[in-house]
Amino acid sequence: MENKIFLTLTGERIESYAIVVKTPNEATVYAASELMQYLLKATGKALSILYGEQKTLENAIEIACEEKFKDGFSLRFDGKKLLLTGNNERSALYAVYEFLERIGWRFFTQKAQYECAPQGYACEKLLTSGNVDIPQDFCVTQEAVFDYRDGSSFALGDVGFCAKMRINAQTWGSKRFPPALGGARTFAYRGCEGHTFGKLVPIDVYGKTNPEFFAELDGVRKTDGVTWDSAPQLCLTNFNSVPVVVSTMKKWMEVTPKAEYISVSQNDNKLFCQCEKCRSSYEKYGYFGTLIRYVNKVAKVFEKDYPNVKIHTYAYSKTDDINESVKAHKNVMVQWCPTRMCRNHALSDKNCALNRANYKKLETLSKVVDEIFIYDYRHCLRYAMLHFTDLFTLRDTVRTYADLHVKGIFSEVNIHSLNQCTFEELRAYLFGKLLWNPYMSEEEYDRHIDEFLEGYYGKGWRHIREYLDKWSSINPKMHYTSFYGAMISDDAKYLRDEQGNPIYAQFMPKEDVAPFCDWANAKFDEALKDADYTTRIRLEIVRTNVIWYELFHTMKDVMSGDDENAKADMTKRCKDLCSRMRKYMMKYTVYIGMSNTTYMYDDFSMPVSEWHYASNIAGGDPLW
Ligand SMILES: [Zn+2]
Ligand SMILES: [Zn+2]
Repeated sequence: MENKIFLTLTGERIESYAIVVKTPNEATVYAASELMQYLLKATGKALSILYGEQKTLENAIEIACEEKFKDGFSLRFDGKKLLLTGNNERSALYAVYEFLERIGWRFFTQKAQYECAPQGYACEKLLTSGNVDIPQDFCVTQEAVFDYRDGSSFALGDVGFCAKMRINAQTWGSKRFPPALGGARTFAYRGCEGHTFGKLVPIDVYGKTNPEFFAELDGVRKTDGVTWDSAPQLCLTNFNSVPVVVSTMKKWMEVTPKAEYISVSQNDNKLFCQCEKCRSSYEKYGYFGTLIRYVNKVAKVFEKDYPNVKIHTYAYSKTDDINESVKAHKNVMVQWCPTRMCRNHALSDKNCALNRANYKKLETLSKVVDEIFIYDYRHCLRYAMLHFTDLFTLRDTVRTYADLHVKGIFSEVNIHSLNQCTFEELRAYLFGKLLWNPYMSEEEYDRHIDEFLEGYYGKGWRHIREYLDKWSSINPKMHYTSFYGAMISDDAKYLRDEQGNPIYAQFMPKEDVAPFCDWANAKFDEALKDADYTTRIRLEIVRTNVIWYELFHTMKDVMSGDDENAKADMTKRCKDLCSRMRKYMMKYTVYIGMSNTTYMYDDFSMPVSEWHYASNIAGGDPLW
């Protein structure tokens, strides 16, 4: 039985109110219809919606919006009138959702993005029941800390849900916010959010006429027979290419005139120029400073026509050698891509050698750049079914970003997946909450986790909470990064096996794996007791995480032994894992489809650790 409330505003029954769209546009009209529908579900009362100012109407919930850049809103009474005012169009919607959350609504997950998704519809619940009054002194004012908030995850694929989570950007064209949702923050030219050198100065056009625009590698400016993504970087000490860059940028702005950012950033490779001039520049300014000097040149020309558009560049790969030698021009924004962040510890954790270095980098960056974005990697780029343990460090890390003047976050959270066993729905929910309020208390963060678990995983949710707590504290001393889930020592060195290969995703001593998984399976069995059909499926999806983890560590030894019964049992369990992956449409490696896969579906005796996990990410360098 769903909850119902008796809602009053300053003591007056909700049905005496009408919804008024004071500044009608697509977003406020949509906001009004959302408010009407969720109030109807919660109270059983259908309010009428009126458009334009209604001066004589006292009992009104008035929706309005301003035209400010910063997302934010205020909720307050003026007499009996409740004013829900957004700083801009999308914020009018945020104002409505905030009000709905205040009366008890929770929007936990989106509706499924694909046909035959077993967990189906959106998970939204009203947590309150009985009398709910919004008193006269009710007043909420909030403003976004981060201007740009986005994450790529199947759990954030539906833009309607993203609006509820206050996700406001559509990086890499993975989604598109319509005007009814107040649009989104956008980069110039769709799909050009990064790695743009090759597009700004096309090598097939300028390679022949101006080879000096491009990097010299091993004494040669190789400009033919390369595709744009394998194209050498620009020669960053040759400023003669700046007019070409700016002219392409202007063309992009004509196509997307509302863009707030435009990217002038390196290609996704390490082919940086080694000409004499560049080499002496690297010595003086580092790769980072050399890049910023070039981008500054572009920025100063471009700002004459587009003073309000921020120019984006990366600190990534070689240009991650962040230093204080060059200050970025005021319209330059740097997106730092911390590929070597420890995900088991918070960025501010002084006991983690990797993150001490990372913190220092971000601190240095904040001294030379006014505006910083982060490109966060919050999943294992090798093992898609490996559940990362950043659940309880994320709050600290995001707060540190805010403290160090970060203005935008794009996070990769299990990309290329349709469904996953790594609690992506919970992670997406917390991500949205933290991006809006990085300064929330630990108690509030905990409350969000518990509310979600109860709402999504049902009555047995406490067992799932225990599982998450245990998993996240499993190896408090170990360090590892998203790239490959490789394990790292206290001295920031990769842990290696006897053959010298990096050790991946182990997390705990081998002998502890089976007992841990037995314990975890018992927890899931408890949680599944009395679960309804939908909840059962949600639980079985995340349990796949335990099944994969155990077989990953135990199957190979059994299959290489001579106990035929044990082998047959393992093969059967592997078959069960594979059928779960098919049934729930899960991926076992992030880049499946981009590289060859093994044929484990044809041979269930192949140990899970021997499947073809992507190994060619980031230029084939396992120690990226
Ligand atoms: Zn050069
Ligand atoms: Zn660490």
